[in-house]
Amino acid sequence: ALPTIYAITPTYSRPVQKAELTRLANTLRQVSRLHWILVEDAAARSELVSRFVAAAGLPCTHLHVPTPRRYKRPGLPRATEQRNAGLAWLRQRHQHLPPPQPGVLFFADDDNTYSLELFHEMRTTRKVSVWPVGLVGGRRYERPVVENGKVVGWYTGWRADRPFAIDMAGFAVSLQVILSHPKAVFKRRGSQPGMQESDFLKQITTVEELEPKANNCTKVLVWHTRTEKVNLANEPKYHLDTVNIEV
Ligand code: UDP
Ligand code: MN
Repeated sequence: ALPTIYAITPTYSRPVQKAELTRLANTLRQVSRLHWILVEDAAARSELVSRFVAAAGLPCTHLHVPTPRRYKRPGLPRATEQRNAGLAWLRQRHQHLPPPQPGVLFFADDDNTYSLELFHEMRTTRKVSVWPVGLVGGRRYERPVVENGKVVGWYTGWRADRPFAIDMAGFAVSLQVILSHPKAVFKRRGSQPGMQESDFLKQITTVEELEPKANNCTKVLVWHTRTEKVNLANEPKYHLDTVNIEV
């Protein structure tokens, strides 16, 4: 059987949330054997996301965990607790099911742009696979540099000293590796900004072991797009609409 792709998506409430989730669901719905793990950054599951999930039309697990207030600051990594909640759910679900069904884990932020070909590529991940990411790191793209089928370095414009100079959208991990490294998590303590990916990958793999995808890392199949902040300057304070509409 095709390995199941588990996509962990942290998400938080803001004006564009439903638009982002709609766009992402429209992509993920076209991927066979995909299980979406949607983790709300919130103290409880919101009605908006709950309704959305119910109508999304794809297998979905809806979790929530709030980011502690002290970590909601510019310059600190985002969505650490949410990605860990997704990892914990995956491990919990498979701990009593030996041998585990083949699976592949991927971290899918809610605002990026994903080609369908990307899922095709990551599906064959044996341990940890990597590929280029577009529109990130102050460049048109970043990518792992590949020689003779092996990753030998990183084409990046930002902190090239990172052991794995790669964005969250640039790698996938087999379920087997996640289960055989039960302590691998995203760390708050001692983690510098921008080091989340490296700190995590260090716990489960080595650069030599990485499997290059996307034609030896020469094709951009995912883009680190970011959505403009919405202008709500003309929201009414009085004379509200006569109906209450979810946006
Ligand atoms: N996110 C979150 N809580 C926050 C900020 C972000 O759960 O307080 C989620 C967001 O929905 C996205 C991921 O974390 O799925 C990465 O956030 P963002 O896209 O803002 O980061 P960047 O594009 O700067 O890497
Ligand atoms: Mn983003």
